[in-house]
Amino acid sequence: MRTEFSAEQLADPAMATSEQAIRKCVHCGFCTATCPTYVLLGDELDSPRGRIYLMKDMLENERTPSPEVVKHIDRCLSCLSCMTTCPSGVNYLHLVDHARAYIEERHRRPLADRLLRSVLAGVLPHPARLRVALALARLARPLAPLAERFAGLRPIAAMLALAPGRLPARAAQVNASAPVRRGRVALLQGCAEPVLRPEIRAATVRLLNRAGYDVVFAAGEGCCGSLVRHLGRDADSLDAARRNVAAWDRELAGEGLDAIIVTASGCGTTIKDYGFMLRDDPAFADRAARVSALAQDIGEFLLKADLPFDQAPPLTVACQPACSIQHGQKLAGVSRRLLERAGFHVRTPAEVHLCCGSAGTYNILQPEIAGRLGDRKVANLARLGADVIATDNIGCAVQIAARAALPVLHVVELLDWASGGVKPDVLAQIEGSAESPAKAHAPAA
Ligand code: SF4
Ligand code: SF4
Repeated sequence: MRTEFSAEQLADPAMATSEQAIRKCVHCGFCTATCPTYVLLGDELDSPRGRIYLMKDMLENERTPSPEVVKHIDRCLSCLSCMTTCPSGVNYLHLVDHARAYIEERHRRPLADRLLRSVLAGVLPHPARLRVALALARLARPLAPLAERFAGLRPIAAMLALAPGRLPARAAQVNASAPVRRGRVALLQGCAEPVLRPEIRAATVRLLNRAGYDVVFAAGEGCCGSLVRHLGRDADSLDAARRNVAAWDRELAGEGLDAIIVTASGCGTTIKDYGFMLRDDPAFADRAARVSALAQDIGEFLLKADLPFDQAPPLTVACQPACSIQHGQKLAGVSRRLLERAGFHVRTPAEVHLCCGSAGTYNILQPEIAGRLGDRKVANLARLGADVIATDNIGCAVQIAARAALPVLHVVELLDWASGGVKPDVLAQIEGSAESPAKAHAPAA
């Protein structure tokens, strides 16, 4: 695409990066077929190509973002399905991140919107605050259907509906040694995952120990910054990145690390991008690049590890890899291979490439589109006649579990069980039934 950014504009590294992305786009439109919002809404302006036009016009002419432009950029899930499809290598991730930050700086949203976004940015990345918020949401949950009736309160209704019925106990966070030591890895503590599903971390630690790796939690590390990044809060996401880079750097300078392991693939995508995010910060650029190079999704790491899969649980697993695994980290197929290696029967749903609608805070900020995508995803999963659904990201697990009749687990929970670990509680209902509850819910073929 021909661009006309001035030399002065291109002196700004963010603008230069966006210009490169825009210039690579050849308008072919291949990306429209795999974009969830275009598939649902059928509007060119809700497609990657349409959004690229909007972003080009906004950035090149340094326009104040209009409500119409903001609407279409806000509707983008940042699922990055378009990046998988694009034959020209357009880096849509960096372009849309820049556009979101630009909008955040120059567009004044309605008061309710500003308040909601501030609450999300102020609560979700902080586990202690999130616990309190979830406890309150649990109490207010009966009000969700009432809130659903008023358009302005739909994000609140979505938030209440996603809150778990029971709040798990606080996750233990202790370094754990392997019986036979092959190496040492840091495990991202993160923010929402240990509050919502502490079992994921426990299963991961057991798996890593079993594979021969000591697991450490770096002091001072926290939320990866994805949540605020998707809200356009650039400075906050860079602060989170710097804090985490410094924390892992101390571990590297100490006993050293073989890898930084991430169990929430959305976070993994961002941590692998720290090198880019901090490229212009002389104090952090090299360290951030080293952290990004060390970051690995747990599936990616376990694929190379030696795990003693000695049980063959006779379960059929519907495997839905997160967009951040398929498109963000280009690791499609990793979870499936691991589950098959462990002895599970694995099935992949139709439209596996389409987002489930979770996408960070998307299912709260865009509840209608997210709900439609969630229902579509769960219908595709239900057709597989599986016993259990497995995914590799906490956001997808919450979004799918809110709609599915089947139990929803993180892949590591099944791998842990299959290699001698703990049987997930939610599978208790399946054991002993002549026909699993899953098969009872599956539509007739
Ligand atoms: S990131 Fe996802 S929703 Fe956004 S334009 Fe690309 S494919 Fe569409
Ligand atoms: S597939 Fe790539 S090059 Fe083609 S329109 Fe989409 S972003 Fe542009």
